[in-house]
Amino acid sequence: MGSNLVQILPAITMSRSLSTASSPMREGSVGAAKGKTFYLETFGCQMNVHDSEKVAGVLVARGYRPVKNPDDADLILYNTCSIREKAAQKVFSRLGAFRKRGGRDRIVGVLGCVAQQEGEAFFERAPQVNLVCGSASYSHLPALLERLESGQRRVTGLSLDADQCFETELTRRDNPFRAYVTIIEGCDKACSYCVVPQTRGAERSRPSSKILAECRRLADEGYTEIQLLGQTVNSYRDPSPAHLSFSELLIRVAEMPGVRRVRFTTSHPQDFTPEIVAAIDSHPSLCNHIHLPVQSGSNAVLRRMRRTYTREEYLEKIMCIRNARRAISVSTDIIVGFCGETERDFEETLSLLDNVGYDQVFSFKYSPRPKTAALVWGDSVPETEKGRRLEVLQQHQREIQLRRNQARVGKEFEVLVEGFQARLGQAVGRTTSNQIVNFPGESDLVGRYIRILVTGAGANSLVGVKAARSEVTREEQGAGA
Ligand code: SF4
Repeated sequence: MGSNLVQILPAITMSRSLSTASSPMREGSVGAAKGKTFYLETFGCQMNVHDSEKVAGVLVARGYRPVKNPDDADLILYNTCSIREKAAQKVFSRLGAFRKRGGRDRIVGVLGCVAQQEGEAFFERAPQVNLVCGSASYSHLPALLERLESGQRRVTGLSLDADQCFETELTRRDNPFRAYVTIIEGCDKACSYCVVPQTRGAERSRPSSKILAECRRLADEGYTEIQLLGQTVNSYRDPSPAHLSFSELLIRVAEMPGVRRVRFTTSHPQDFTPEIVAAIDSHPSLCNHIHLPVQSGSNAVLRRMRRTYTREEYLEKIMCIRNARRAISVSTDIIVGFCGETERDFEETLSLLDNVGYDQVFSFKYSPRPKTAALVWGDSVPETEKGRRLEVLQQHQREIQLRRNQARVGKEFEVLVEGFQARLGQAVGRTTSNQIVNFPGESDLVGRYIRILVTGAGANSLVGVKAARSEVTREEQGAGA
């Protein structure tokens, strides 16, 4: 999995009106909590962000209204991530701070991976918690909330309902331009450091007909960028009679009227095929960026991690990407200090960075997680050494990124403008290859596709100015960074 991009997101805010489409989630629950408020904070990857959007949709349908401050909420939910120890700790620290505040009578719930992992034990560790629900049980949320609202003190949703993906047309998407769409849930891989197969359950793909119908609806609603999600998104197996392959699904979404950009994350190297590269090559709407987590450059470490590929096999996939007609950028995830990682193993990871030339690397220190195979192997690399390796790796990568970004100076790229900083008079855009570009602009550019001339480069972003002819039509798309 690569959506290992641990971050903390602010409480969800609503930017679009509630869909009026019918959904089984609404039955018997609409308006039951009218006038009540909720605060929902998300930890973790895009999958978690999108899960929160789905949960928010269920809550709004029940009559809850979102608020930005937990002190104003009748229902407080933390959607948790346990992929790193730090993220799990943050949830407990939030709950600790909340306990000290005391105050009004309210429901406190913990969702996601930490909830699934801790289960009923959560109530002992954090007695103020009323609801513990793993992501595979979100379809039971309305019933669980009903029990809490009628006075039950503690409820849990911890079954791994492997027969379905939690999808609802009530989803409250937080970004007005980019829509996340889950196409596959769970994971059948067995990486020795990872909790996801235990917390999200077995792999299950959604029928392509449902995915395409959802994407069509989103395009009609004005979303121009679709991001297909899955822990191992390219392991997608269409259960419908159409039996679309992952690359065929990509093409069908890319060809949809109104869709200007399609991204997908996270790809597993084992299931990464040349057909995916060919699809990107021939369809400009498919963004020329691939996130392909490698985790380590050492075969010995990859074997212990149970990553199911060697360094050489991974590099063959990279070669396939580099041979594409379009310049496809590649990002990755790396864990340093995995148990047994020697200095030589680490140096192999550094040399892999040079071999590949990544445009972005998300790197982390290994932290043993409960219920994983690697837990019993110990944590042999001292914390200080892990810290040193992380620093060396990040500095090494910064230099690579700076060189790659400097090569972009003087060129023009199309960006989707995602934000505007009034204080600086700066707009922020993103290229199809996922580079951030800051440029002087106005707030009304947000949501538009603009051509930018890059005038400067840092390790993490570019700066530029609007190109002489800056508006980009759909037909002109595809000249990516
Ligand atoms: S088990 Fe491996 S492939 Fe599956 S989500 Fe975890 S890291 Fe990714």
